[in-house]
Amino acid sequence: MIEIKDLHKSYKMGKNSLHVLKGINFSVEEGELVAIMGSSGSGKSTLLNILGMLDVLDEGSYSLDKVPIINLNETKAAQYRNKFLGFVFQSFNLINYKTALENVALPLYYQRVGRKERNIKALKYLEQVGLKEWATHLPNELSGGQKQRVAIARAMAAEPKVLLADEPTGALDSKTSYEVMDLIQKINDSGNTILIVTHEPDIANMCKRVVHLKDGVIVEDKKITQVRASQYVQ
Ligand code: ADP
Ligand code: MG
Repeated sequence: MIEIKDLHKSYKMGKNSLHVLKGINFSVEEGELVAIMGSSGSGKSTLLNILGMLDVLDEGSYSLDKVPIINLNETKAAQYRNKFLGFVFQSFNLINYKTALENVALPLYYQRVGRKERNIKALKYLEQVGLKEWATHLPNELSGGQKQRVAIARAMAAEPKVLLADEPTGALDSKTSYEVMDLIQKINDSGNTILIVTHEPDIANMCKRVVHLKDGVIVEDKKITQVRASQYVQ
């Protein structure tokens, strides 16, 4: 699904340059649930942003679903992002003046799905995250956990091949974090490929594989037996 070879990335800062990713080799098969761990500043978001085509690599290669991701112009990158990828962020990134339903329907609008079908589909995804009754509510009427579930429904509505989540539980308390992880595990159970950036070991343990970044290289990459989040939620 994802294949990265000898990836390098630096940020230019005036005369200096900061070498953030220093030769990453990494591949992900369909259906995996991968945690990307590492201390703050270790390059986790940089890696996820490159995987998400929000940023470009300097050296190396990246292919997604066998498509080489190279020299894409902004239009093409946006097309691929819509087709392949769903995003979830720590700060939810919902649109404040749109209802939960409208937020979930937005990627479908960009896919040129008609209004009626858009709303039916969006409602289906809201139902899957347990928020059908909240369809007409605005984000500021929802709790943090509910907002993140709307964001996950929005990401899934476009039926992406890969879901990328950057610290999806970073702004949530433990109980709410486990509810979100329970949802993420269930989405993964039905076959979706998911990558999660986190620095919380308990969240990483709920994935099936943990990749550890340190000083721009992968220092550990191991499969684990996942801890199920459902035992912590009620
Ligand atoms: P993490 O997500 O692991 O905390 P990041 O990938 O966000 O780490 O950042 C890695 C390093 O790159 C940090 O030192 C950060 O300050 C730097 N960095 C990130 N984005 C940029 C940017 N757009 N311009 C310059 N430096 C950046
Ligand atoms: Mg980060």
